[in-house]
Amino acid sequence: MKTISVRVNAEAAGAIRAGQPVIPKDSVRDMSVFGAEGTLLRLEDPNGKYVATGYHGQQNKGAGWVLSRNERETIDREFFSRKIREAADRRNPFFENPDTTAFRVFNGEGDGIGGMTIDHYEGHWMVSWYSEGIYSMRQYVYESLKEMPGVLSVHEKKRFDLKGRYMEQDDFVSGKQPEFPLIVKENGMNFAVDLNDGAMTGIFLDQRDVRKAIRDEYAEGRSVLNTFSYTGAFSVAAAIGGASGTVSVDLAKRSLPKTIEQFAVNGIDYEAQDIVVMDVFDYFRYARRKELEFDLVVLDPPSFARSKKRTFSAAKDYANLLEDVLAITAKGGIVVASTNHAGFGMKKFRTFIDKAFQASGRKYRILKEYRLPEDFRTPRNSPESDYLKVAVIKADS
Ligand code: SAH
Repeated sequence: MKTISVRVNAEAAGAIRAGQPVIPKDSVRDMSVFGAEGTLLRLEDPNGKYVATGYHGQQNKGAGWVLSRNERETIDREFFSRKIREAADRRNPFFENPDTTAFRVFNGEGDGIGGMTIDHYEGHWMVSWYSEGIYSMRQYVYESLKEMPGVLSVHEKKRFDLKGRYMEQDDFVSGKQPEFPLIVKENGMNFAVDLNDGAMTGIFLDQRDVRKAIRDEYAEGRSVLNTFSYTGAFSVAAAIGGASGTVSVDLAKRSLPKTIEQFAVNGIDYEAQDIVVMDVFDYFRYARRKELEFDLVVLDPPSFARSKKRTFSAAKDYANLLEDVLAITAKGGIVVASTNHAGFGMKKFRTFIDKAFQASGRKYRILKEYRLPEDFRTPRNSPESDYLKVAVIKADS
């Protein structure tokens, strides 16, 4: 592979030496020095001293990722194989647990290669690619996966701007494709997934611990509202945990059949559950008018969303959204407030929570906080990598 030497500014050199995995866009004056996407970079400090080896790949987080801090290490197929093997070894307890068959095997920069992740779904592996640069190295990964025991099939998701390229390909790469939906297990619950159906698979694996907590600790006897419900995975966990009823609200039409399917594969009568295809902001208005109240509300919006009527950004609008939720949360009720916005941390998130409760004139206690689960390994010195923030809040008064 082609390697070019690039001098980065002193600030970036210092941060990378301290362990930061991302190569910042502003580490150079002119990004053309990074060459084409996928070019290997020998990063040097302003004095020309070696800092790290990385690659050029454009994504929202930066201009590329550090792969090694050892000048003598070569980036080749063996490098990729070794990183993937090490990552898989760290997940041995997951591979050996029959109750959870869907989990992350390789978490980008947390496992040493930023810009790609690999998820395991009941023996079927899915690789997600976040830049053209890392995608250009895909053969190294696919060849490595051929050597891994127990890989039944490989699928891929290209999560970068395709600019019209590769559009003809579907997401299947190799092996024996399963029939979809594929039923995976998570802490004994069933979830239907499809690895060959658009951007998402049907379940967000990073919420595993939260689903378990809802089932085991928070749902029993409670009326549950699940907003931004997608395929209703939180509703399924709540129903299994003994909720008195669930309402799942999502704008996407597909959420209706997908949510029915998730209930059905768990043997839950979906007709006894409410599934509403509606903008949540309209639902809040409807619920207030009907004076509905819920004992447990799950709030897990996308970081950014645009509908016909409005745009939503978690960084700007989370407190207002939570205020809307509180207006229909019963006294003593619980709100599971979640965000995957990488642009702010837990501290800031707590200020949004505080603001919403202040504005509602209600008291609260944060019962517990959740971050990414163990298989979503993150590096030290990379706060943006540790994006998931979940607070379980008791609305006392
Ligand atoms: N909480 C879900 C994941 C949410 S993904 C889970 O754990 O599985 C985000 C979802 O928000 C998508 O399904 C999208 O259709 C939905 N969405 C985005 N804007 C919305 C809006 N204004 N009203 C209702 N749903 C919305």
